[in-house]
Amino acid sequence: MRVSQIVGRTPSSADRRPRRSTGRRPGLVTSSLKRSCLLLIAASLLPAAALDNRYPVDWAREEAETLEYFTTLLRVDTTNPPGNETRAAQAIEAILKREGIPVQLFALEPGRANLVARLKGDGSRRPLLLLGHTDVVGVQRERWNFDPFAAIRKNGLIYARGANDDKDHVVADMMVLLELKRRHVKLDRDVILLAEAGEEGTPRVGIDYLVNQYWPEIEAEFALAEGGSILEENGRVHHSLITVSEKVPRGIRLIAHGPSGHGSRPIPENAVAHLAAAVARAASWQTPIRLNDATRAYFERLSAISPPRDAARYRAVLDPARAPEVDRYFYDHEPGHYTLLRTSVVPTIMQAGFRTNVIPSQAEAYLDVRALPDEDMTRFLAELRRVINDPAVEVMLAQTGGRPAAPPSRTDNALFRALEDVTRRMFGAPTIPGMLAGATDCAQLRSKGVECYGFGPIAGSEGPLGGAHSDDENISVNSLNKLVEFLWDTVIEVAAE
Ligand SMILES: [Zn+2]
Repeated sequence: MRVSQIVGRTPSSADRRPRRSTGRRPGLVTSSLKRSCLLLIAASLLPAAALDNRYPVDWAREEAETLEYFTTLLRVDTTNPPGNETRAAQAIEAILKREGIPVQLFALEPGRANLVARLKGDGSRRPLLLLGHTDVVGVQRERWNFDPFAAIRKNGLIYARGANDDKDHVVADMMVLLELKRRHVKLDRDVILLAEAGEEGTPRVGIDYLVNQYWPEIEAEFALAEGGSILEENGRVHHSLITVSEKVPRGIRLIAHGPSGHGSRPIPENAVAHLAAAVARAASWQTPIRLNDATRAYFERLSAISPPRDAARYRAVLDPARAPEVDRYFYDHEPGHYTLLRTSVVPTIMQAGFRTNVIPSQAEAYLDVRALPDEDMTRFLAELRRVINDPAVEVMLAQTGGRPAAPPSRTDNALFRALEDVTRRMFGAPTIPGMLAGATDCAQLRSKGVECYGFGPIAGSEGPLGGAHSDDENISVNSLNKLVEFLWDTVIEVAAE
């Protein structure tokens, strides 16, 4: 899952205002609590790079190695189902072991191993977890112009299923771990790599299994995962979106019941007709608008870097009196923002009938409901029943359990400040915290108290062609290198002594 498709839009550069300073001096915004006052004073007199570049890596020179591992991973077909993530885990294991990094594999099912590797720090601070998933969604091969598991490189792009979701994170995590080891970076917290199975719909074998059975192996203060993206516009980075929260999938089933009969005889109790009416009412229901800390911060910060008309709208949405009007606009023009304001209801499946001349006694629909993290689903179901207003239609949760809801991760801690610093230093651009409309394994980690952040590679403002889950999925070599560099700088800032 990745957010770049979900964000509404980015402002055009035409009337972009000059960026205001945040008032904090980069040299002072460092994470280590242990750094002495003397060092702070010294650092404040130096350019930021002097402090932040303690472990410089020329990632362009590391490109060949990054691409070698990336290609290796992409060529392992880990389509889920069935997954076969063990093959990817073994490939990673071989690389890490060669360099003396200890590795553990945890598998609920033999073919579906998760890999955990840990570099020890001095223990003065709690661990940092870097996670990426090795499984990928399936492909419709006939719709691809490239073999989806050959990792073809063409015009600076690498085409493969998983290139964008999520083997880019996996390889970035690996490269960072390898370089930390090679450079003997002294860490004041453990850095843990987790290459996990089953993110695409089967967390049972992945994050749920690890959280329930092997929690001490991955327990951390902070986690960095998929979810965000770096939004580029006209060749310049506009801002980095870091996801600090996400909506919760809570699918709902509608089942209409009625008598069966002959297609030549109309009856008012026709289940197909009742279902169709119920779906139409559910789809047109404007669910209540509700902002939370993450979305409020998102619109506030976005308004500060948007052209005047957009900025006015993003400010207006924060005002309860004016929000409904903006909501209407979002519905028509910015669906990625419309969904952030509410628990959303989207019909995705209808199943009814089997013969043209038979009225079936039952018809079913599925509503893809994405709940705000604090939604009371019992109340929501009651509201939906009221909206549908038809005793012939049952309304129920499609499944129990699923991803847990959790409060947003904080934006006032060392990790978020590191993300802001690195974005400013690498791209001269601001960082915006946001809520993901989709779902990731950060949900399980946040519910265990881990501050989890979604970051991601550079994406164009028009939305990436060949983004996550699409045909001809791809990533640019430059974007991949930048992702590794971004992660490296962040890890150094929060974990290096
Ligand atoms: Zn993903």
